[in-house]
Amino acid sequence: MLRADRHTGRRPSERNSRHGERARIERAELLAGIVDPVVVPFVPGSRVGYVVHPATGCWLWIGALADNGYGVAGIPGTSRARVAHLQSFVRSRGAVPAGLELDHTCRRRYCVNPDHLEPVTRTINVRRGAKTKLNPAKVRLIRHVFSVFQNTMELTESLAIGFGVSVGAITDVRYRRNWKDVPDTTAAGVATFDASGLPQPERVTVLG
Ligand SMILES: [Zn+2]
Repeated sequence: MLRADRHTGRRPSERNSRHGERARIERAELLAGIVDPVVVPFVPGSRVGYVVHPATGCWLWIGALADNGYGVAGIPGTSRARVAHLQSFVRSRGAVPAGLELDHTCRRRYCVNPDHLEPVTRTINVRRGAKTKLNPAKVRLIRHVFSVFQNTMELTESLAIGFGVSVGAITDVRYRRNWKDVPDTTAAGVATFDASGLPQPERVTVLG
């Protein structure tokens, strides 16, 4: 059973906990590679701050990391804490536009460089963060396969193996629970695919 995060009070999921573990290890490795690390105070007089990583320009958070891998900083003048990158962004760019959330373009959750943060929609953020193996062309192909072949668990499993994703991910694509913005069809033909175990259509052509 995982311990509740002392910053958020929430019990992390196994997946989030792995993020935190990876972040701590990676941060230590990056810091070890910096010759003369200088901690820049997050706010004047603060004991927590960040170290600029010369090679990437990332501002490596030197302070607590939540179990999900995000840097955590106290909110000045309060006893509350908040993710550090959000504070950093708000301070230099202003509020995050309504309905958007911050995405780390550098894929380092503990980076607090506002230049590495981009306000994006939740859909885009989740998609980028999932290191997704699918893309619009593959999504169209999967949907096309379901429109051509009889739906069976075997087919779903084959596609999951073929595309290296979970059965749930394939089902979500099929029922449009994800990749909702990808149109079903394309004028361009879709080439045959040879992933192991997949039914081999002669040449799948998706009509636009
Ligand atoms: Zn960064």
